[in-house]
Amino acid sequence: MDENRVFDVAIAGLGPTGATLANLLGLAGLSVLVIEKEAGVYPLPRAIHFDGEVLRVFQSIGLREAVLARARPGTQGMHFVNAAGETMLIRGGTAALGPHGCANNYYFHQPELEGLLREGLARFPGVEVRLRHALTGIEQDGDAVTLTVQALDEGCERHFKARYLVGADGARSPVRAHMGSALHDLGLRQPWLVSDVLLKRPADLPAHTVQHCDPARPMTYCNVTGARRRWEIMVLPDDDREALLAPQNLWRMVGRWVTPEDATLERAAIYTFHSVIAEGWRRGRLLLAGDACHQTPPFLGQGMCAGIRDAANLAWKLEAVLRGRAPGTLLDTYESERAPHVRALIELAVRLGNIIQTTDPALAAERDAKFRAGEPEVFELPPQALGAGAFDTQGGAPAGRPFPQPRLADGRLLDELLGRRVAVIGRHGTIAGASPATHERWERAGAIVIDRPEPCIADWLDAHGADAVVLRPDRYIVGVARTADELERISQWVPAAP
Ligand SMILES: Cc1cc2nc3c(=O)[nH]c(=O)nc-3n(C[C@H](O)[C@H](O)[C@H](O)COP(=O)(O)OP(=O)(O)OC[C@H]3O[C@@H](n4cnc5c(N)ncnc54)[C@H](O)[C@@H]3O)c2cc1C
Repeated sequence: MDENRVFDVAIAGLGPTGATLANLLGLAGLSVLVIEKEAGVYPLPRAIHFDGEVLRVFQSIGLREAVLARARPGTQGMHFVNAAGETMLIRGGTAALGPHGCANNYYFHQPELEGLLREGLARFPGVEVRLRHALTGIEQDGDAVTLTVQALDEGCERHFKARYLVGADGARSPVRAHMGSALHDLGLRQPWLVSDVLLKRPADLPAHTVQHCDPARPMTYCNVTGARRRWEIMVLPDDDREALLAPQNLWRMVGRWVTPEDATLERAAIYTFHSVIAEGWRRGRLLLAGDACHQTPPFLGQGMCAGIRDAANLAWKLEAVLRGRAPGTLLDTYESERAPHVRALIELAVRLGNIIQTTDPALAAERDAKFRAGEPEVFELPPQALGAGAFDTQGGAPAGRPFPQPRLADGRLLDELLGRRVAVIGRHGTIAGASPATHERWERAGAIVIDRPEPCIADWLDAHGADAVVLRPDRYIVGVARTADELERISQWVPAAP
């Protein structure tokens, strides 16, 4: 082993965030070291839902088909039902294709997904994975970060160097602790028991998710994939946690829906759901991603999704900085862009949690009466909008929003044509009218320039009163231009080699 080698990026933690980031950086041709203290993927029940934008990220690392083979589209939505069985609130579902060129929601089994992401890393010779290696020390100077790592099987200490270290090391993140980034609590902290069962025979269970807002025992039911069904059960103050996990008690609590004759108990665990966001996702050469810098109660199924979005946002910025196309300060836009969306999702999850977790019968009756007074309210997630950062922030929406992914005339999805690079798409006259310096800038950025957009994209430009659009490698919109001059202006946001 060459301990003098300097990796481009070291990643602490091979959960879904670290594994996605490693795939993205590997695809970019960077040298990556991944340190993971465990030998295998985490086996207990965690994420079961991701959204269309997350599938698009998996597509960008060449894993769309592999993931789709293990996931099912979630077309049915989520219903909040009170103890009387009345529906109070609905998150709509749809079978229609969403803006990312796929369904809006998918259900999956987290250990399977993590397995696919790990297998994906084998494609990249520049990515080195060290399992059973625990990060124990960090030192950074002007040039690099030095990692002290405990090789758990060999019982020895090793040292590695990297230009940047990303702590994708989960909720208890040692990297976050080293950085001293404060965690802000957004108000929900509650233990829940989470159990998965495998059906042995068809059972009369809903296809959609149900939040049982019963003050006697709040619960969530989810249809996962195949025969797997999940019940999440709120732990009440008087519960004996160990007794609660005993199979006979689990069966008693879900006995209204399934019995041991219908299903086998696969796994169960008690988690405390948190709602926290860190302040300080970057300190010099150290960065945080995923649960290391935010944790949400899972009522919206968005915790892992947020980590995957972090990876997609961070990967192209690290690449641009490491390849000399952008100054290190580009990395400061990572937190400013991502934190507002993460915060909005956590706040919505907390709001929903407060509806679900009401255990005072009087308050539950008041809540039910309020909902009964109107039609069931339908809610949607906060829009995918970046906070201020590396895009035309003065231009307003759709700058800072994801560009849709239509299917092209030749059957390909747009991103298959664009790849993970900057894209400049516009009408012939506007593109031709940009100055030679701007054309040269696009070239130095490695951009793909399309000056005869297909009708589906021309329609999008029409709908936005635009003649051209510039996209970042993560498919977020830098800005739209109505004139060649505007195109010059927004192109200044594109990182380009000197
Ligand atoms: C019950 C439940 C349901 C959920 N449902 C959903 C859902 O439906 N949808 C969704 O999007 N999210 C959901 N989530 C959240 C999701 O599971 C997490 O957000 C996601 O796993 C976080 O991924 P991560 O890679 O950031 O962190 P982790 O998966 O926690 O990975 C961190 C890794 O870092 C490693 N590590 C830690 N310290 C060190 C060290 N010192 N050295 C080396 N390695 C280290 C750990 O071993 C671990 O492998 C749910 C969570 C729970 C608990």
